[in-house]
Amino acid sequence: MTIYPSLEIPATLAAGPGPGNTDPRVLERFAKTGIADHMQKDVVRGMIEAKEMLRDLWGTKNVYTYGVAGTGFSGLDCVLSMILPGDKVVAFPNGTFSGIDSLTIRMKAATAEELAADPLNPKPASVSIIETPHGQSVTGATVDAALAEHKPMWAFMAHWETGSGRINDLKGFSDACLKHGVMGIVDAVSSLGVADFNIDDYPGVVAWASCPQKGVLSLPLTYAPVSFTDKAIDMVKKRGCRTYVHHPILDARHWGIVDGKDVPNAVYHQTHSCYAIAAFHEALRIILGYGRRRKASDYAYHEKALRQAVESMGCEVTSDMTSLVVLNLPDKLRGKEKDLVANARAKGFGIWPTLSEPVQVRIGILNQLSAEQIAEIVNRFADEMLEMGANFDKQNVLNGLKSYYAQAA
Ligand SMILES: *Cc1c(COP(=O)(O)O)cnc(C)c1O
Repeated sequence: MTIYPSLEIPATLAAGPGPGNTDPRVLERFAKTGIADHMQKDVVRGMIEAKEMLRDLWGTKNVYTYGVAGTGFSGLDCVLSMILPGDKVVAFPNGTFSGIDSLTIRMKAATAEELAADPLNPKPASVSIIETPHGQSVTGATVDAALAEHKPMWAFMAHWETGSGRINDLKGFSDACLKHGVMGIVDAVSSLGVADFNIDDYPGVVAWASCPQKGVLSLPLTYAPVSFTDKAIDMVKKRGCRTYVHHPILDARHWGIVDGKDVPNAVYHQTHSCYAIAAFHEALRIILGYGRRRKASDYAYHEKALRQAVESMGCEVTSDMTSLVVLNLPDKLRGKEKDLVANARAKGFGIWPTLSEPVQVRIGILNQLSAEQIAEIVNRFADEMLEMGANFDKQNVLNGLKSYYAQAA
């Protein structure tokens, strides 16, 4: 038997697509919370307050708005569990994450025979996968045409596809769902807490899922925000779904949502952690205090600074998200993406390659919304580039960054 020494994990510069850099206030709430069980009154109060703050963050009056314990894919599992075997679904992946979501959809929509035929990668006849190439955005026209052709019950799209850094046409998706009488489901993992939008403005979408660790910035494993319209909940009420823990109606009870209404008491669903609730509650307080609109404009402002800086190093940016820059290295360094990222990561500079082809470099700015933090990222990335043999004058790059911020100020 081996008992290992205590696990020490260093502080790195989390400059990838996620997780974002955790605010000390969130960690403080996590660590300073007393032990209390999942039905203790302040824990329950925290859940109910968090639910109400989440409605503000999502921009919704949906009663069925709450957090699913776990990571982004836990929330997605909850919303996608509305899909039953044999349901007709059209999914619009354009990168790694919407590709994984499409796999979840294929698993849920597969009949027993279809699942048995290829258990880890089922290909049910009732699911159509409409691929948009990496680096491009899903357009409303693509969605409209596919829904007209396939006439599904459900449609699925990611709002912001973090694998390629692309923003998809949410309005086009919602409008097409309305036009064709389809229930839309959206992965808003990367956009919630970064972009300024109200989900109630997209009535074609009946269910949304996000995550704790990106724009919401509550990594200390907490909650994946989800929201369902009454139409979605009515469908689950009528047909049921094949999960207890991620059941859209049953899970909501612990957040004080019973029979379509807010109630003052929780109904036990699972043993929620007082530490997680306190951290999540604080993260929501921080984000709403900062202001959704201001946060969105700060992300856009700092993303532009980073984008210009990497372009001045000779990189080509192919993303349009505001929390992440996805880039091609200059020709001279093509093929060295993974080495460059590995070198950076070995020094605690946590950037990422893309996880599916083509290989690109991803640099994120979650919770790095200051000129100093962006300068640190630019500095460290410039050093890695130069070490790999890039040709540029680092002082010029830094001067360019300085003048961007000076002009803006
Ligand atoms: C990060 C991400 C996920 C997965 O979230 P986890 O927290 O890793 O489970 C899903 N979809 C999108 C768009 C993401 O960016």
